[in-house]
Amino acid sequence: MAPRPVPNGKNTKSVFIKTYGCQMNVYDSERMADVLAPIGYAAVDTPDHADLVILNTCHIREKAAEKVYSELGRIRKHQKSNNPDMKVAVAGCVAQAEGAEIKRRAPVVDMVLGPQTYHRLPEMIAKVTRETGDVLETDFDTVEKFDALPAGRNAKGYSAFLTVQEGCDKFCTFCVVPYTRGAEVSRPVDQIVAEARSLASQGVREITLIGQNVDAYHADGPDGSQWGLGNLIRHLAKIGGIDRMRFTTSHPRDMDADLIETLATEPKLMPYLHLPVQAGSDRVLDAMNRGHTYAHYRDLIARIRAARPDIALSGDFIVGFPGETDQDFEDTMNCVREIGYASSFSFKYSVRPGTPGASLPRQVPEDVKSERLKRLQELLYMQQREWNESLIGKTLDVLVEGTARGDGQLFGRSPYLTGTHFDGPEELIGQIVPVTITSAGVNSLVGSIAKT
Ligand code: SAM
Ligand code: SF4
Repeated sequence: MAPRPVPNGKNTKSVFIKTYGCQMNVYDSERMADVLAPIGYAAVDTPDHADLVILNTCHIREKAAEKVYSELGRIRKHQKSNNPDMKVAVAGCVAQAEGAEIKRRAPVVDMVLGPQTYHRLPEMIAKVTRETGDVLETDFDTVEKFDALPAGRNAKGYSAFLTVQEGCDKFCTFCVVPYTRGAEVSRPVDQIVAEARSLASQGVREITLIGQNVDAYHADGPDGSQWGLGNLIRHLAKIGGIDRMRFTTSHPRDMDADLIETLATEPKLMPYLHLPVQAGSDRVLDAMNRGHTYAHYRDLIARIRAARPDIALSGDFIVGFPGETDQDFEDTMNCVREIGYASSFSFKYSVRPGTPGASLPRQVPEDVKSERLKRLQELLYMQQREWNESLIGKTLDVLVEGTARGDGQLFGRSPYLTGTHFDGPEELIGQIVPVTITSAGVNSLVGSIAKT
């Protein structure tokens, strides 16, 4: 595949970036490409002949971290033996958490860079190319990173992520994020507005504001007052060309009345909310250090549904946290039955070295975790299917993102973020098209263009 052109037209080198994990990594990978473009690196879709391979990694669960080492093994065996000049970088949260250990386990790696240092990629590459040694950069200056990134974005497609907040001060006892991403930092309003305008000018129609705790966003607004996420959303919604907005991930402790009101009143804000609860038992929520009870979460959901009755609710769940009893797990099942989810993500608790959860007594055996996850997912997938089936016969506005696998089929997203397939001409890519839903599965919808 030919390298994609870079802004200054000097396409002398190629970079392949593989992204693992969350939306923030998707965003970071795009920004790494933006940082590398001015020094002549064009992004390519395969590592085979790339001059630089970057693995942008995830450390949230053990499996995610281990995948990186398997990929490094493949790179050493196949790509690097054919292309000895290839440079290999490990970026993201595994880089932050494991640092120099990565080089010891995988000598093929030339650079290890944490999530707050990728704006310095050009100087790291220069260092490695001059062979003055391997590079290990795992500083924590989030503000410096955002100040140093290019203001313009090289947009891909019609829907884009935009980081508005990064890091976390909540220290849930199972989670590595506060250690790998650092303290909570919000970006200044004008920086976010400039980035949103740059995306809109390149044809992006939907922006998802992202942050580890996006609802904790706070910064000085242009009017001199402190702005929360609600204010920021209403301000960005005025940008011409941006037709849809979303935000993720929310935390039950940070969703304030203004944000709930914005969900009710801002027409560009889509009716979808990812608001993880993790567990339905107060004892487990306390041991997880979530800082709220199940009753708080349930009341919050009631307020959100009163404000936006058609909201599609999504959540995260962890089963088998240390000390979780059969009754605690039943509380999680009852939470799911009571709340009702349109989509979800559910996981077995994964011990993360260095987090308080790792040293808690009464770790739950693997077979018990697997059994609980199976029961929970059966319930969640049934709810997801029912939600999707309730949309049959309705006409939904679908933002068309591209072609689907089937001949002549297009793929897009409904307001509820559900993947939607329908027949139509490629000229519709990038447009918002009314689609009447004709059938539904657990993960996607099928429809046809609405007759006018
Ligand atoms: N900030 C978000 C919140 O508090 O809800 C979540 C961010 S985290 C990147 C995404 C999800 O990964 C969490 O909601 C949790 O369900 C899951 N997760 C985090 N650490 C985990 C662990 N050690 N084992 C299993 N799942 C985990
Ligand atoms: Fe991790 Fe908890 Fe912070 Fe979410 S709120 S990123 S789960 S520590």
